[in-house]
Amino acid sequence: MSEPVDVVVIGAGPAGMAAAATALAGGLSVALVDSGNALGGQFWRHPPEHAREAIRTDDLHHHLREYRALSGALSAGALDVRLRHDVWTAVGADRGFDVHAVDRREEPREAAVVLRARRLVVATGGYDRQLPFPGWDLPGVLTIGGLQALLKGGGVAAGSRVALGGTGPFLLPVAAGLAARGVEVVAVCEAANPLAWLRHPGALLRNPAKWVEGAGYVRRGVRVRPRTAIIGAHGVDRVASVRIASLTPEGRPRPGTERRVEVDAVGVGWGFAPQLDLPVTLGCALADAEDGNAVVAVDDGQRTSVPGVYAAGEACGIGGAMLALREGQLAAESVLADAGAPPATPYRRLAAVRSEVARHRAFARAMALAHPVPPAWSEWLTDETVVCRCEEVTAAAVRAAEASDHRQVKQLTRAGMGWCQGRMCGPAVHSLTAEQQAYVPTERLIATPVTLGALAEEVAGAAVEKKESTHGRDA
Ligand SMILES: Cc1cc2nc3c(=O)[nH]c(=O)nc-3n(C[C@H](O)[C@H](O)[C@H](O)COP(=O)(O)OP(=O)(O)OC[C@H]3O[C@@H](n4cnc5c(N)ncnc54)[C@H](O)[C@@H]3O)c2cc1C
Repeated sequence: MSEPVDVVVIGAGPAGMAAAATALAGGLSVALVDSGNALGGQFWRHPPEHAREAIRTDDLHHHLREYRALSGALSAGALDVRLRHDVWTAVGADRGFDVHAVDRREEPREAAVVLRARRLVVATGGYDRQLPFPGWDLPGVLTIGGLQALLKGGGVAAGSRVALGGTGPFLLPVAAGLAARGVEVVAVCEAANPLAWLRHPGALLRNPAKWVEGAGYVRRGVRVRPRTAIIGAHGVDRVASVRIASLTPEGRPRPGTERRVEVDAVGVGWGFAPQLDLPVTLGCALADAEDGNAVVAVDDGQRTSVPGVYAAGEACGIGGAMLALREGQLAAESVLADAGAPPATPYRRLAAVRSEVARHRAFARAMALAHPVPPAWSEWLTDETVVCRCEEVTAAAVRAAEASDHRQVKQLTRAGMGWCQGRMCGPAVHSLTAEQQAYVPTERLIATPVTLGALAEEVAGAAVEKKESTHGRDA
């Protein structure tokens, strides 16, 4: 095991980068851990360092100035960066926390790593929220985040004729990014009614930059079909066409509006779900968010209910990269304050950061209310539609379980028991059974798949350490 650092930041997206940079600037020792190849998280996903010259993706990014400033700040400090390290659990330990990770830099070999920290910042972000529909398990049907990750991380377009569907502003940059790489984006189906935004004039007026960004996509030729959805995908070996329909306000397909569109790839996303595995295991209290997700509950300094654990970014609620950045900064300022260190951010700037956070959160709330999951979405399902892809559990089986939440469905049908551990189907199964409450993922003691070899290595290392410390005491 390593010597303890002042703070381990888990997640190197906008929130984690900002937290690490602020803590470093305040003079703390910091380890920044991420399962990815590069700093930046989902928003600033880049090709791995060795491929950056060959694969150019800068034109697909926003706010690169902030990314470069943070990268510069992180490379200047005494930072322990652990890329391609998956944290599989974090637990309270003597005067701090043990962060258990697997080092996958030498894949297929996995090495066990335990980092010790006095404090923890959890900045693990979120993942695409999916709703099943007939044919969504065909090859060529991806999440919109997945399409974007292929584009930004590898310069790869998943198809040449692509339809996008779901809800939320994230459809726009994905459509624009695909079009910029020569892809024919044949449809962008937005289930919500854009007029719903007018119910939140305050949030709109306080965030003009968002509208400038939206107008930019329209200028670049992105055409959205409001109140429509992709309700089926068809093909033999892979997707060849989708069925698109106009929706009623409840989300039912309007009779007579269905039509087929030929495609070779599809991207679908219904917002995001926060990545809560580690905070749930650590015992952090959760709160309900307007978008139907449970999120990590934090105070105005991003402190969770567990002393010494702070959270920032989309683990605390879906709100975009700029909110994540500011929350990361606030979390690190709280770490500094709680460690008795002076702040790294000047007082006036800190007040401005707090008001930016409030402004972005108001926008995030408006976004959640304007882009809900359509209440009648489950009527698109046939009995045969696969809901849990890992365990091949159908909609009929989930309904027949007559369970009261996704945990019970799991016990009765195995939905959520496979490789992804319900990350993919969990929100949908929950919505099919207990739509009134927020979705709280099942506690997973092991947050990411880890080999028995790596676990055995860690146990052996701990035994040696214990023996050495006993010898040390006896000598
Ligand atoms: C696939 C995907 C693509 C997206 N693309 C865009 C986009 O192009 N434009 C846009 O505006 N928004 C995008 N978003 C939304 C975007 O994620 C956020 O607005 C922003 O990146 C949130 O920042 P964050 O720091 O909270 O989280 P993230 O950027 O998600 O960063 C979280 C980091 O934590 C790491 N992590 C999580 N769990 C572990 C673990 N157990 N061990 C080690 N590391 C871990 C992840 O690898 C990730 O790098 C995307 C979201 C997803 C899911």
